[in-house]
Amino acid sequence: MLTRLYIDGVWQDGARGRTMPVHNPANEAVLAHVAVADADDVERAVDAAARAFKTWRHTSGADRGRYLRAVAKAVEAQAEALARLQSLNNGKPLAEARIDVADVASTFAYYATLAEGLDESSEQAVDLPVQDFDARVRREPAGVAALIVPWNFPMVTTAWKLAPALAAGCTVVLKPSEVTPLPELALMGIIADVGLPAGVVNVVNGPGAEIGGVLTTHPGVSKVSFTGSNAVGRIVMKAAAETVKGVSLELGGKSAILVFEDADIDQAVDLVTGGIFFNAGQMCSATSRLLVARELERALLDRLVDRAHRIVVGDPFAQDVQMGPLINRAQYERVLRYVRQGVEDGARLLAGGARPERCGPQGYYISPTIFTDVPANSALWREEIFGPVLCVRAFDTEADAIELANDSPYGLAATVVTSDTQRARRVAQRLDAGVVWVNAPQVIFPQTSWGGFKQSSLGRELGPWGMHAFQEIKSVVSARG
Ligand code: NAD
Repeated sequence: MLTRLYIDGVWQDGARGRTMPVHNPANEAVLAHVAVADADDVERAVDAAARAFKTWRHTSGADRGRYLRAVAKAVEAQAEALARLQSLNNGKPLAEARIDVADVASTFAYYATLAEGLDESSEQAVDLPVQDFDARVRREPAGVAALIVPWNFPMVTTAWKLAPALAAGCTVVLKPSEVTPLPELALMGIIADVGLPAGVVNVVNGPGAEIGGVLTTHPGVSKVSFTGSNAVGRIVMKAAAETVKGVSLELGGKSAILVFEDADIDQAVDLVTGGIFFNAGQMCSATSRLLVARELERALLDRLVDRAHRIVVGDPFAQDVQMGPLINRAQYERVLRYVRQGVEDGARLLAGGARPERCGPQGYYISPTIFTDVPANSALWREEIFGPVLCVRAFDTEADAIELANDSPYGLAATVVTSDTQRARRVAQRLDAGVVWVNAPQVIFPQTSWGGFKQSSLGRELGPWGMHAFQEIKSVVSARG
């Protein structure tokens, strides 16, 4: 198991030899002790990335594409081991961890293709209204990028930044979440093995405020790409302002799923439960607010409560388990606090809200939870809970549904469930959300964009936009003759 820092092509301990324990959320056992970086280590990592940038920026797109494709192949070859490590450290059921690993491989393969095309596409001639000048606009790598990622999809959030950054020609310093460094270090082991030049990718573990603080203020870092909470996102943006770095933020959400009266109720049950209980609700895009047409409310709630009671919660490695534990005690207590607050605020608890009886005393397990009649101004309805808690309100008209869905400071994602294709298109256009699924589970393709409106995001990941985030734009204007 890899547990050290990776700086300038060398696995190493931190300057002061500090370590931190990493836990298994399913039973609270210590899995490993991971090396912790000091400010000096972060400095060395940024210096190594800056030195490597001098040559990496000039490698051809074709060469960078070859490295990325090799990573994709190696991830596929080691998929099962990576998935198991992720379940162990993050607590998600193995079936879900396998989906994450497949996503990581396809993200690297996609950006391999984009990198290969860069030799052709990174410079374009511009039509000018005069004959005396020739103008070309080029995209060039931004420089050293700091990548800061959360614990809920550790490898996926890393791949969504790392693959486009490398494709663009940036070098990087990655800071994994201190809660889930093990899968990311394993991914880094693969990247180290494909033979990238020393310093192109560096990894520094440690407490967010300490390590992240150095990265986000370091004058040698040109770009910060952050995924995590809004509270920390704001700190990152302020810190980066000092040296005017490019900043991309992927933050929280309180996404809505809208179920209309003409929906297929079986499909609605699958989409609603998948949207909130996948990864135990610890998803930025979790559709934690269900808006249901009043005429379907009773029938859908009965079915949802029945399904919630039948979801098997427990050890992520058990064959029959569909939902694992929450990530740690802080998250577990936070979710239970929201449940208590919801009851006090007058919402009606229909299912869950407590530790499942079948789970023993160890591990951070909470049953699939459903609240209805949730007051629109309550914390339960407005704040990101980041747990398996579904909040339900009924609506009377399509316009009401859209207004309720959009009444949030967030705007990451939304799901629309209806058999009326005209309505689906109309509603999708009116939702303030960066991603809308219509009668579909939360499938994500590297070819499409990822990110939200309002306070959910700044910039976009995936697709060409994900790579543009790591590029500068340069105009070259030449006099003719
Ligand atoms: P977090 O904000 O606590 O931590 C995220 C990362 O930031 C960690 O690596 C942490 O160590 C680091 N960090 C902490 N303090 C820092 C500082 N002062 N400067 C720089 N870095 C610092 O988030 P989390 O609890 O790990 O993740 C959950 C959050 O992530 C949720 O709000 C969720 O919605 C969000 N998220 C968003 C997306 C998206 O695509 N929009 C995807 C996944 C998770």
